[in-house]
Order: sequence, then structure tokens, then C-alpha cells
Amino acid sequence: MTDKPHKIIPLADIRYASRVPAIPAQLLAPSGLLSDTLGRPLRDLRISVTDRCNFRCNYCMPSEVFTKDYAFLPQSSLLSFEEITRLARIFVAHGVEKIRLTGGEPLLRKHLEVLIEMLAKLQTPGGKPLDITLTTNASLLAKKAQSLKDAGLQRVTVSLDGLDDAVFRRMNDVDFPVADVLKGIEVAQKVGLAPLKINMVVKRGTNDAEIVPMARHFRHSGAVLRFIEYMDVGASNGWRMDEVLPSAQVIERLNAEFPLTAIDPNYTGETAERWRYADGAGEIGVISSVTQAFCGDCNRARLSTEGKLFLCLFASQGHDLRALLRGNYADEQIAAAVGPIWQARTDRYSALRAALPADTNPADGAARRVEMSYIGG
Ligand code: SAM
Ligand code: SF4
Ligand code: SF4
Repeated sequence: MTDKPHKIIPLADIRYASRVPAIPAQLLAPSGLLSDTLGRPLRDLRISVTDRCNFRCNYCMPSEVFTKDYAFLPQSSLLSFEEITRLARIFVAHGVEKIRLTGGEPLLRKHLEVLIEMLAKLQTPGGKPLDITLTTNASLLAKKAQSLKDAGLQRVTVSLDGLDDAVFRRMNDVDFPVADVLKGIEVAQKVGLAPLKINMVVKRGTNDAEIVPMARHFRHSGAVLRFIEYMDVGASNGWRMDEVLPSAQVIERLNAEFPLTAIDPNYTGETAERWRYADGAGEIGVISSVTQAFCGDCNRARLSTEGKLFLCLFASQGHDLRALLRGNYADEQIAAAVGPIWQARTDRYSALRAALPADTNPADGAARRVEMSYIGG
């Protein structure tokens, strides 16, 4: 026996509050027509396939919090591909048409292509294929783009916060070069993962000088660049309102350089407000989760890496579907348990935050919110 000091590792499984959903006595079959207390349907499921990441973006997984001793989920806690596909099938029966794989960094999950193949076989009740996409930091995209495409992935969203190498290395905080992300984007476009979207989180004073260079770079590329307001997700990033650059100012800066025209949303519930370059160089978007809440149309549910269902990005409590999956219940029973959870949904965090004084951080004093790396973006 050694007398090494014991390191106490918190049990990741009990990190966030959750409850095990009740199985209703009467099993109602999914109708695909669920709606919540605000009349919002369920259409979009975001699945986090890992809580780990090889980046430490300061607004998401700050390195002071996510240290080498951080208790990431053990392998046994993760939903298996079979479990994810089983739940996806149940959600599709309830009306989900779009699945986004996310994380953490989803491309770190081994054999992700196998999961994509399994999900690509699902169909909506009307017989349509699902819209399957993935959000990635692109660090492994050049290597994996072809196999992802072959597995049935249709498109990808790449996160990229600037073109200046020093700014980008500082933001990812692991000294990752921008050239490798650009290579990933190039390969993804070459293999036909399209239309490719690029998400840039804008932090005032950190990377807002990159707005115009990013636009200039991706004009005429076919990729849709979207500027995201820095959000107060999780409990780690030390969010402050004065670091948010409102999308209206992003548009103002771009419009001064490249005149823009507003265009209509593609579909109800689209998070991005769309704009087109007047000279025909393509399209951009802004996602204004802080200054222009879009809760009214929010049709998104989130499944954490360990199978907890969250009804809002800012939730502090999940619904433990893994307990049902591993509790020997039939699909009909799990489906009947999921329906009432969505029907009881009241979440509209961003809309409520918008009503608070500008310098308030609504997280202060509130229940600890889930981290974006755990719940998925
Ligand atoms: N690792 C992958 C990536 O970065 O694309 C997927 C997961 S990441 C949590 C998903 C998205 O959330 C990324 O586009 C990221 O920029 C965004 N995100 C993370 N923290 C954010 C924050 N505080 N405010 C706004 N967007 C954030
Ligand atoms: Fe990782 Fe994505 Fe979060 Fe950055 S935003 S730390 S790449 S999960
Ligand atoms: Fe949806 Fe919650 Fe975001 Fe509102 S705050 S748009 S309800 S995820």
C-alpha cells in the first residue's frame, strides 16, 4: 500500500441538479405536434457528445477553471451511440427535424462517424431525412471532413474568433494556429459539407477589431459568417455586459465598409438575423442572444453528454433520461415521459434578462447554471 495523498475528485454525475422523469400511467404515443406553455414546438435537438475540449476559449472553458485536474465525465457516464440514437428516434417522433452534434469538441469523441451513420438513417414521421449538422472548432476537421461527409453529415458550423494569429491563439488559449482552422474550412468545403457556417463570438476589446477582416476574408467564399454576441452562459466565464458588442454595432461597422441589405429568415425559430452584401458577395448573420432575445420562437432542446435533457441554454436543472434508458424502460414509456416535460416548458431566460438593468448579471445569486461545454452550444 502506498501512502500517496488521496485526491478527491468530485462526482461529475451529480454536478448539476436533475430529476428522473416520471413514466405516466397512460402511455400517449408521440404525435409530432408537441408544444410548450408558450406554444413553441420541439424541432431542434442539440446533442453534446463529449464535455472535453482541446481549446480553452476564455468565454466557454477558461483555463483557470478547466485545469488538468478538472473532473470531466468518466467514460461510463457518457451516453453510448446506441443510447443517443435511441433517444434521437424518440425525439424525432415528437417533432424534431434537425440534430446538431456539439460538445465540448465533438470531433474528440472517438468514432463519431459511426454515430452520424446511425443518425442519418432516421426519418421524420413524414418520411423526410433529418437535417444533421455539427459545430466544431475545426482543429481536427481537415483530417475528418471526408469521413464525416461519407457517414452522412450534410454540413458543419466552424467556430473561429479571428484571423489574426496572435488574437486567435490568445482566445483559444492553447496556442492553436489560425492556419490550421482555415485548412479545416477549406477541406470541409472541398468535400461538400455545405453550406458552411462560421461562428465568431465577439468580445468587445478582445476581438472586435477582427470583425471587418473576417468579413473581408469570407466574402465570395460561399461560407456564411455569423457574429455571435458574447453570452452569460455557465458560471465560469466571468461575463460582463460591457464586454458584449451589440449586433447592431457589428452591422454598423460592416455596413460602413461593405453595404448590407437585410433579408428574411429561412424558417421560424432561426437564431441568426440575415443580411446580404449589396454587391452580391454573399450572406452574413448576427446572433443577438443578449440584446434581442429570440426566446419567443425557441424550439431547441439540449441533451447533455450524460443524457440529461435541458430545455434552455441557461437552465440549472436537467431531466435524467439516461436513468430511463438504463432502467429497462421501453421506448413507448420513455417517449411518454418526454412529452409532458416539453409541454410544461416555460423557459425564456434571455427575454427575462433583457428586462433587467444593464449592469445586472442574472447569474448572481441564482442556481448554478450548466456550462456550455457540458450542455452543448
Ligand atoms: N467546440 C465546438 C465549437 O467551439 O464549435 C462546439 C461546442 S461550443 C460550446 C459551441 C458554440 O458555442 C461555439 O460556436 C462557441 O463559440 C459558442 N460559445 C461558447 N461560449 C459562448 C459564450 N459565452 N457566448 C457566446 N457563444 C459561446
Ligand atoms: Fe472548446 Fe468550443 Fe468551448 Fe472553445 S467554444 S472551449 S472550442 S467547446
Ligand atoms: Fe431558448 Fe433559453 Fe436561449 Fe431563450 S434563453 S432562446 S429559451 S435557449
